[in-house]
Amino acid sequence: MGRDARRRASGWTAGERQRALERLRSGTDDWELIIIGGGITGAGILREAARRGWRALLVEQRDFAWGTSSRSSKMVHGGLRYLAAGDYRLTRDAVRERERLLTEAPGLVERMQYLQPHYRGQFPGPRPMRALLWLYDRIAGRRSRAFHPAAEARVWLPQLQADALIGASRFADAVTDDARLVLRTLSEALADGASAVNYLTATEILRQAGEACGVRLRDRLSGEEFTLRAPVIINATGAWADRLRGQGPSIRPLRGSHLVLPYWRLPVPCSVSFPHPTDRRPVFVFPWEGVTVIGTTDLDHDRPLDDEARISDPEVDYLLAAANQIFPGHGLRRADIQASWSGVRPVVAGGADAPSKEKREHVLWDDRGLISVAGGKLTTFRLIALDVLRLAAPRLPPARRPAQGDEPVFRPLPAAPAPAAIAAGIWRRLQGRYGADAPRVLASGAAEPIAATATLWAELGWTAANEAVVHLDDLLLRRTRLGLLLPDGGARLLPRIRALCQPLLGWPDSRWTQEEQRYRDLWQRCYGLPSDGADCNDSTKEPSP
Ligand SMILES: Cc1cc2nc3c(=O)[nH]c(=O)nc-3n(C[C@H](O)[C@H](O)[C@H](O)COP(=O)(O)OP(=O)(O)OC[C@H]3O[C@@H](n4cnc5c(N)ncnc54)[C@H](O)[C@@H]3O)c2cc1C
Repeated sequence: MGRDARRRASGWTAGERQRALERLRSGTDDWELIIIGGGITGAGILREAARRGWRALLVEQRDFAWGTSSRSSKMVHGGLRYLAAGDYRLTRDAVRERERLLTEAPGLVERMQYLQPHYRGQFPGPRPMRALLWLYDRIAGRRSRAFHPAAEARVWLPQLQADALIGASRFADAVTDDARLVLRTLSEALADGASAVNYLTATEILRQAGEACGVRLRDRLSGEEFTLRAPVIINATGAWADRLRGQGPSIRPLRGSHLVLPYWRLPVPCSVSFPHPTDRRPVFVFPWEGVTVIGTTDLDHDRPLDDEARISDPEVDYLLAAANQIFPGHGLRRADIQASWSGVRPVVAGGADAPSKEKREHVLWDDRGLISVAGGKLTTFRLIALDVLRLAAPRLPPARRPAQGDEPVFRPLPAAPAPAAIAAGIWRRLQGRYGADAPRVLASGAAEPIAATATLWAELGWTAANEAVVHLDDLLLRRTRLGLLLPDGGARLLPRIRALCQPLLGWPDSRWTQEEQRYRDLWQRCYGLPSDGADCNDSTKEPSP
């Protein structure tokens, strides 16, 4: 995981985390940037820093993408509602980034159609929507908008509430797998010589004459502590940003939750956006990786940040009520829900009463060498990274490889046809998720899908062996999304998953049993439905040494 890994395409094989830690402790590396936080913001900064030849290290207290960046609504979008709220700049930047990502990472970021139904007496009607979409298309430089009268809208969505339906506006945005977006960004940074270590917590910012000059780190697995020095320390810890700054509160943590249903229970060919019947907040139902997702809520998150976020009972009712109102024929009930996930938005507090009224733009703070960043969107991670590095540049040596214009985040892949054994769509998906490693992923195991998902057994084995998996939940909730896509978090398939992955992970039987228990407990508590009197304690914390 050190700079000797330069240009190596694959990620982290077994034992590499330990070797990387030994190297860090030995103090042989002189770091120029230490980035704290392994979500999309940290990953984006690492990627752009490594490209410029700066010696950069990223540390993440849990798993890569464990925070908000595996729990978003997966939209790579301009945010039509931000445009409607007059936030032109955020929308413009996001639309442009969406178009870049669609070009750079096909198979990981894919275009998705959106339908917004219009009902008599409801705002926005087709006319204001047309004006908004005109501007949206104009920013993108391509036309995607269309209006479908009621009969056509019901061809798209036969179960759509028909009473008072005028029609539906259609437009295009994009969708991704957010955790894989983080992993792919990290792997691009690694290939440029960067380092990244998970389960390593920054516990303190070191200062000399008031200036930040290093960090104290604690290995979450062994409990060992050590310090590292660097002229620039970047706090990309999202919802946790106030902690390391030692100031605030500047962050208003806002929870958003989602429900996952089997696709057959609520089949939608596109994302459907509509105002919630009780508070008129925008909610949506969309297809993702073979399931249907209903999202999202937006409320102050007052639980401890170190406990995994999870959905509450009122949120389940709120989301079901929205889906039942727009698709009344389906009669959706709690029993139909297969899984849930919740994330905490690291929104910079602006003093708005309603959570949904808070601005979503990113903000930077320079606290004497500790550069903190929070807010923003998954979609705009590259722009956030560039802003951070601009602020950090005066404290850094000149870039060894100065940026040549607006370079792609993801290195272009050779335009080779799909291998004969698999369909073009599967190959596209593998290339999108694993980049230059796609041929190795395919060669590593069976090109057979896992149950009804698009994930291949080959992917599962490859990621277990090569992508810094520390716990079973890393493998099933973030490297792959099987824990969300399969009923009961994939419990039925665990024996087969074990047969494939246990040898690759090098875990003895006792460790597997422990990991399986931890995964089942975590899934019940945070990815299923709330159960009465559920324990709030987070049992996925590593034991204190
Ligand atoms: C419900 C919801 C839906 C969303 N939907 C969308 C969407 O559709 N499209 C979009 O563009 N954006 C969306 N967003 C916003 C987007 O997900 C976030 O802006 C983005 O993921 C934030 O990334 P981040 O890296 O800043 O934070 P995070 O992903 O939370 O990463 C911060 C990381 O820092 C780590 N950390 C914290 N403290 C320490 C420490 N002391 N030492 C080491 N590591 C530490 C945490 O473990 C965490 O992994 C959504 C957000 C939410 C909550």
